[in-house]
Amino acid sequence: MLPKVKVFVWRMFHLALPVATHLIFWKVRVPLCCSQSGEESETPEHELFSCSGLIPVWHRLGVWSVLCRCVYGLMQEILLFLFDRLPHEAFELMMTTLWWLWYDRNSDLFGNKQSRLDVIPDLVNNHLEEFNEYGRRGLYLGLDPVNPVVNRATR
Ligand SMILES: [Zn+2]
Repeated sequence: MLPKVKVFVWRMFHLALPVATHLIFWKVRVPLCCSQSGEESETPEHELFSCSGLIPVWHRLGVWSVLCRCVYGLMQEILLFLFDRLPHEAFELMMTTLWWLWYDRNSDLFGNKQSRLDVIPDLVNNHLEEFNEYGRRGLYLGLDPVNPVVNRATR
């Protein structure tokens, strides 16, 4: 898993994402409803899993049948459920998708950029393919185990 995705998973699990319900606790004045859909309270669970705008993404990735069983729980419950039920690669795909969803949300909210939910499944797949390819070839470490560079002694 990419290091930035690992950090993001840690932040999700420890409820360290700055959504409205958390900001209110810290006395920051923000609207409580979801900034994307206008529905419900802006909780991390809503922003990353159950917002109506995200359902098409989950359908497209083929994970809605699993998500719909846990999506209305608390963040830690959802993450543990997914960790238990999904094969390793599917869990990694899900966590990378969540990172992209958070990035898209923040770009839309704070960067005045248009949401690109429609291309997120493609971005996630490309991202994971590149990461896995680099990992397989050792390029993250600057090594290439398939074709190792051998310095021959000069005569
Ligand atoms: Zn929403």
